[in-house]
Amino acid sequence: VNPYSGDSTAGNEKAAQEKMAELLAEVGGRVEMFEPPADVYEQAHIVRQAPPRSWRDRPNVVAEFVLGRGGPGLVLDCHMDTVGAEGMTIDPYGGEVRDGRVFGRGASDSKGNLVMGLAAVRAMQGLGVNGRIVFQSVIDEECSGGGAGTVACCLRGIDAAAAICLDGSGLTPHNGCAGVLTPLFRVPGESGHAAYNAGVNAVEKAMLLWPAVCALKHRREAADPISTVNWTVIHAGSTSSAVPSELVGQLHMQYSVAEARKAEAAGRGWGGALVRDHVEEFLGAAAAKDPFLAEHGVKFEWIKDLYPFRTGENEPICRAITASVADVLGERRPVEPIHAWLDAAHLTVQAKLPAISFGAGTDGLAHGPVESIRIDDQVAGAAIVAQAAARFFAGE
Ligand SMILES: [Zn+2]
Repeated sequence: VNPYSGDSTAGNEKAAQEKMAELLAEVGGRVEMFEPPADVYEQAHIVRQAPPRSWRDRPNVVAEFVLGRGGPGLVLDCHMDTVGAEGMTIDPYGGEVRDGRVFGRGASDSKGNLVMGLAAVRAMQGLGVNGRIVFQSVIDEECSGGGAGTVACCLRGIDAAAAICLDGSGLTPHNGCAGVLTPLFRVPGESGHAAYNAGVNAVEKAMLLWPAVCALKHRREAADPISTVNWTVIHAGSTSSAVPSELVGQLHMQYSVAEARKAEAAGRGWGGALVRDHVEEFLGAAAAKDPFLAEHGVKFEWIKDLYPFRTGENEPICRAITASVADVLGERRPVEPIHAWLDAAHLTVQAKLPAISFGAGTDGLAHGPVESIRIDDQVAGAAIVAQAAARFFAGE
């Protein structure tokens, strides 16, 4: 469980990673364990200001497998951390097997996919292929983690030609996702006794921004449905008798590959820099219509800017997984991008690897009170990954 999940007993990634290292070594992997550097996001030039996190006792496990005579490398990357287990109505850690499913926290997202990857490696060892697998069991994807584990792998340098991120559900491959922005803004006020209408109420001032947030939402979502905007966090006030001197809000925003491309063309890097400018200008202009806010200003901080990614459908790894899905499942499933952000973005942006995401989880069960995965889906997923790797190594 991710130590930032809010669970009172969370924070035992290391024990699970040691078990993972043991399993990977047992099947012939050359295993390394390492913690991400404290400044992992700064080193990778990723906007990620608050709240700060620690990676102490939270190692990644990376194992290399040389198959046959070796050859081009393929990354299998899977996050091993999970969201909290409090509030689950089953035993989160029991691993109960019933009705063809395994039950427990992480079964669908994403420990079940970690096991699928391990099974795929074992299957490949029997296929007589020539290639290399770089297996990455990584930390801190969940609970608003920014994928520090995967970023740390990228910073160390990955000797590979493509990647499959083992995450998600439905045995459907995804070749892209939206970027995610989290602005935090501080709306000022002045404290005073509520009985005398003293001070300036920061809550009232913040409400002046509400129409602008709605306008931003409607405009962006009309231009591209992936570019969602939601006001998700509000903190203000400490006692009902005092007029609050500050309101702190956060939005959750998404942005498209086209917007990241524009920022890159403008010399601002692949990411949401232009969207960030626009949000500050747009909400800033709305605030400036109020004399008090015009004088004191609304301050913006950017908690998160996780870039989007898109891998071309003609990339060998895309073709390999599509062909293998068709082979194993007996139906064609086109690769397509999804809304939710994926760790695969780091592999394409930081390590410059064509990447796709593929998982055997069950839709709608991740993070829920009764999480499970179908064993048949794990087996089919392992077969698909193993076949896709074989196709990729053979240059098909
Ligand atoms: Zn996941």
